[in-house]
Order: sequence, then C-alpha cells, then structure tokens
Amino acid sequence: MSRFSGRVVIVTGAARGIGAGTAQRFASEGASVAVLDLDESAASTTARGLGAERAIGLACDVADAAAVESAVERVVAELGRVDVLVNNAGITRDNLLFKMTEHDWDMVVDVHLKGAFLMSRAAQKHMVAAKHGKILNLSSVSALGNRGQANYSAAKMGVQGLTRTLALELGPFGINVNAIAPGFIVTDMTDATAVRLKMEPEQLRQLNADAAPVRRVGQPEDIAAAAAFLCSDEASFITGQTLYVDGGAKI
Ligand code: NAP
Repeated sequence: MSRFSGRVVIVTGAARGIGAGTAQRFASEGASVAVLDLDESAASTTARGLGAERAIGLACDVADAAAVESAVERVVAELGRVDVLVNNAGITRDNLLFKMTEHDWDMVVDVHLKGAFLMSRAAQKHMVAAKHGKILNLSSVSALGNRGQANYSAAKMGVQGLTRTLALELGPFGINVNAIAPGFIVTDMTDATAVRLKMEPEQLRQLNADAAPVRRVGQPEDIAAAAAFLCSDEASFITGQTLYVDGGAKI
C-alpha cells in the first residue's frame, strides 16, 4: 500500500510512543516524514529508523511560536511541502485540583492546546496554498473527565473544539481536520501514570484491559492505523470529527 506516496507528513512529539508509531505507519505507506520533538537527537534517531525514502528529525517545542514557525519552514525547505500535520506532542502533570499548581496547568494547556493551535496555524498556510491538507489532533478519553487530570482533560476537550472550528474554517480550502481520542495506549506516558499511582506498569495495563469491552489495552499501532485512514483520500468526506479509539473503554 502506498496511500501517502509523494506526501509530506509532520508528526509532533514523534520521537517515541504514539507519535513514533504514527510516523512509522505513514513512512510504511510511502510518505516523507518530519519527526518533530523537543530533543533533536531523539527526533533524528527515530526519523532514521523509519525506513522512509525521506525523513528528517527536527527539534521543536510546539508551545513556542517562533520554534514552530521555523520548524514548519524547514520542513517545507527540506521536504518541499506539507500535506499532513499530526498534532501529537503531549505531557501530563497530574494532580488533584487542590494540589495542582498554576505552572502545571499552564504547561499542559500550552503543549496540548496552544501547541496544536500554533502548529496548525503555521502548517495551514502551505495547505491553503496547495488547496489540500489534513490536520489530525490527538485528544483523549480523558476529555470526558478523569480524576487528577483537570489540566489534561480541559486541554483535550479544548482540542475537540479546536478541531471542529478548524474544520469549519479550512474545509473550503480542501483541508480536513479531525481528532482521535485514544483510550489506554501502552507508552512511556501510561507507564509514568502507573508509577505515580504506585503500581507496576503491567498491573495498570491489566486493570485497563479488564475494564475495556475488547479486553485489551491499545498499542501505538492502533492509533496509527486510525490516523492513516483519517489522513487518507478515502476519508475526504470526514471532517470535524473526534474518533474514540479506545476498545470501547469509555462506554
Ligand atoms: P509519550 O510517550 O510521553 O510521548 C510524547 C512525546 O511528546 C515525547 O517524545 C515528548 O518528548 C514529546 N513532547 C512533550 N512535550 C513536547 C513539546 N512541548 N514539543 C514537542 N514535543 C513534546 O506520550 P504518548 O503516550 O505517545 O502520547 C502521545 C499523544 O497521545 C499525547 O498527546 C497524549 O496526550 C495522547 N494520548 C495518549 C494516551 C495514552 O494512553 N498513551 C491516551 C490518550 C491520549 P520528551 O520525551 O522529550 O518529553
């Protein structure tokens, strides 16, 4: 399959986890891929491992407007265009409301929500000029509410509002904007949650698997498969949607 031959895909926060899995999927379907992450050497290592015809790794803090502008310009200079943007970069700073600091609120909202805004604003210029593009935002089942995640939950529901609004604004220019809301996916992020809850990662995975109708937790490949579909030409009549990829766990 080469649904993305000749296409250029940017994935943020793609040095590891869901972002790396998604970058891998696009590369395997023929895309040139730009791996953006905080650490340039981690991003470059992941980019080299994708086996893509063309892949680059760039340092970019998605919450920093100047860094975002220059990263997107470098992608266009080096890979020629931007067809797909996956806003995946993310962090957690969990705490109950009465213990949550203003700093932890700001950091989480800045990376997830402002980051998606800044990256989308920078990428859409090129997509609008080409009259073609796909933007995919990572939300979460936590958007529906999750104890200890007031900052993350608010940011992830904000991402859904951003998705619908960008779909309205950019649809006339041939750009589809959708979101995926993953359930529990095995990554460093969920392993860190286990540590915070004083559990072994495997124990937390089992608890989440037991709670899911499909009786398993997700892997980055589960999100990557949905991402590739939503960013493909086959999904050109789908926009403004949030697809829950959660094994039915939110039911
Ligand atoms: P992860 O394993 O922690 O990876 C996140 C990546 O984002 C890391 O490489 C991290 O870099 C990078 N990053 C953090 N802040 C950044 C910034 N300001 N600019 C650029 N890159 C940044 O997380 P994940 O589990 O793959 O999650 C990916 C996305 O899916 C996130 O948006 C997350 O909220 C969402 N999600 C995950 C789950 C899940 O169960 N795992 C569920 C729902 C939604 P460093 O390594 O340098 O920190």
